[in-house]
Amino acid sequence: MTEKAVVPVAEPAAELPTAPPGRAPVLVQAVILLVIVVPLLGLVAAPFFLWGWGFSWTDLGLLLGMYLATALGITVGFHRLFVHRSFETYTWVKVVFAALGSMALQGSLFKWVAYHRRHHQHSDSADDPHTPHHAGGGVLGALRGAWHSHVGWFFRADPPDLYDYVKDLQKSRALRVADALWPLWVVLGLVIPGLIGGLVKMSWVGVWSGIVWGGLARIFLVHHVTWSVNSACHLWGFRPYRSADESRNNVVFGILALGEGWHNAHHAFPTSARHGLSWWQVDVSYYLIRVMSWVGLAWGVKVPTHEAIARAGWKTPAEPVTSAQPAADAT
Ligand SMILES: [Zn+2]
Ligand SMILES: [Zn+2]
Repeated sequence: MTEKAVVPVAEPAAELPTAPPGRAPVLVQAVILLVIVVPLLGLVAAPFFLWGWGFSWTDLGLLLGMYLATALGITVGFHRLFVHRSFETYTWVKVVFAALGSMALQGSLFKWVAYHRRHHQHSDSADDPHTPHHAGGGVLGALRGAWHSHVGWFFRADPPDLYDYVKDLQKSRALRVADALWPLWVVLGLVIPGLIGGLVKMSWVGVWSGIVWGGLARIFLVHHVTWSVNSACHLWGFRPYRSADESRNNVVFGILALGEGWHNAHHAFPTSARHGLSWWQVDVSYYLIRVMSWVGLAWGVKVPTHEAIARAGWKTPAEPVTSAQPAADAT
């Protein structure tokens, strides 16, 4: 084991491009968008057809509540806290986020963090674990790339040096235990909504529908929304900032993925706790971090200064962007 890959996530790449990259043909973009968005819309529509006999207010509450809790476990916990260390908090809060993120069924804490750090180190190069941009040309190549970035990459073997990326986290005994308990967190992610559903409805049907909506359907939703940050947010959207990759600010997944869809901003400022850098860019994950800092549960919150944001735009001369700064002097 070498030290070479430890936390390669703090700074944007030094080699920054001078012009934004081109786009795939409109037809290709439209087909891939349909493949990703239509199944999601189907699930959103399902409760309207089932209302009254297969779906109720309790199920809606469990679906939304578990979606928020576990998606924030991924976005605030796995991503902004553990991968990028964009703020600091107590060990018990870290364990809570590790448990909530694990309930999203996207792999254990260490594995998730290692893959995402590798993504930032090799963004959209051949060594990026889930880039959509290295699967050949034409419509077929674009579709293959979209599939690979969205879900196909899970079927690849882990790189042998993968866990070199999480040596810092492995030093914490609490986090080693939280990582090892991954199967328990996953089961709890199904048991908790089942229990609540059963207690509210005082029936076995309530238990089952709680597991279906607060567990299974919620896992499907969180999966596709967060996977879309890897696929859609490296394919469609705006690139207001220089970054040495194809990351995009995507409005749909900016909202659905609780702020993670402002992905070009994230690649330009990887250590920033805030991804929606404009006031209108909804970033629910950052709002939670701000609330946590107000009540003393988060400190050392990093966001870029106004000057750094201005320098990262395409209109200013290319130069390496400075790292994010503590929140004290930021908006
Ligand atoms: Zn990315
Ligand atoms: Zn990241």
